Amino acid sequence: MRKILSGVLTVIILAAAVISFGSYRTSVQTRLYTRREFVMGTLLSLQAYGPNAETAFSDTVRRMHEITDRMTINDAGSETLLLKQHAAIAPVELSADTFFVLSRALDYAESTNGAFDPTIEPLVSLWRIGFPDARVPEPNEIDSKLPLVDYSRVQLNEAESTAYLPVAGMGVDLGAIAKGFAADESRRIMEEHGVKSALISVGGNIYAMGEKPDNTPWRIGIQDPLDSRNRVMATLDVKDETLVTSGGYERYLDAGGVRYHHILDPSTGYPAETDLLSVTIVSKSSIDADALSTSLFLMGRDAALEYAQRDGGFEAVLIDDDLGVYCTCGIQNRLTIVNSNYTLVSGNV
Ligand code: ADP
Ligand code: MG
Repeated sequence: MRKILSGVLTVIILAAAVISFGSYRTSVQTRLYTRREFVMGTLLSLQAYGPNAETAFSDTVRRMHEITDRMTINDAGSETLLLKQHAAIAPVELSADTFFVLSRALDYAESTNGAFDPTIEPLVSLWRIGFPDARVPEPNEIDSKLPLVDYSRVQLNEAESTAYLPVAGMGVDLGAIAKGFAADESRRIMEEHGVKSALISVGGNIYAMGEKPDNTPWRIGIQDPLDSRNRVMATLDVKDETLVTSGGYERYLDAGGVRYHHILDPSTGYPAETDLLSVTIVSKSSIDADALSTSLFLMGRDAALEYAQRDGGFEAVLIDDDLGVYCTCGIQNRLTIVNSNYTLVSGNV
């Protein structure tokens, strides 16, 4: 009898332990951890569920600093600055990170016939849009920089992991693609720590991992490109995907009654004249989405729609200057326009 009683007691104690461990696990799995840091010249915002979230955050922040130190054009000691300093002198050995990001940037330069061009640096440095000393350059200053912008002259040596810029004054700016790479890296770090549900934002380059604990997708807002108060004009449900937007409203210089935005046309040296207000790309790879959002913005609506149709490896939402919204068909049923000033013109790309 005593044996039976103690057996029953053991079962009860074990059951209680399992139940309480179960609820402990649920509370850890459903607790939201958050972190915000200023890094890469922008705001890094991390949200994640699960027990290892905070360790994953610390590793992500460390990695973001490493990527910035290697790729920024604004601080001494970066590899991109070394490349510029060694232009027409000698090749520069690059870390695997910088070599990879520069290679991807050159691929996009090729596939956009040079509309996207990482050798835009001399022009970016001339305008300095987004910095307090931004100004409209004189036409002769722009003319003197234009011949330095030519992606086809960059010499990469994969075996030695080097790059060489053959003309003095040439430089490389990875600003249109590096945040996407950083978002991919953060996602990889989260995965390594077993995090299954997270929302990563590197200055608006978003990676939505998994679903929320209630099994609903992440709902992301697309910014209203005409509203300076960061209001949203549409929402998009995403799961295990990145969402990246480029627009002329993000950084600009107002001078003499004209607004000059920060995405430059390599053929003119001036801000790209585009009929698009913003381009949002949804895909699995954030480095690709970052390069594509800038590229499609530069191309303008019709060429961008054609590119999206031809490539097919990503989804896109374009907003043109008539407030028309164009999206690829794979995304149409996940897009909700919440501002009636905007009209869905075509979802059948
Ligand atoms: P943001 O950095 O504001 O999210 P983008 O990803 O579109 O926006 O990148 C814009 C940045 O890319 C510019 O600030 C500049 O550093 C760089 N850039 C500007 N024009 C070009 C271009 N034609 N090709 C590649 N990079 C560019
Ligand atoms: Mg970009």
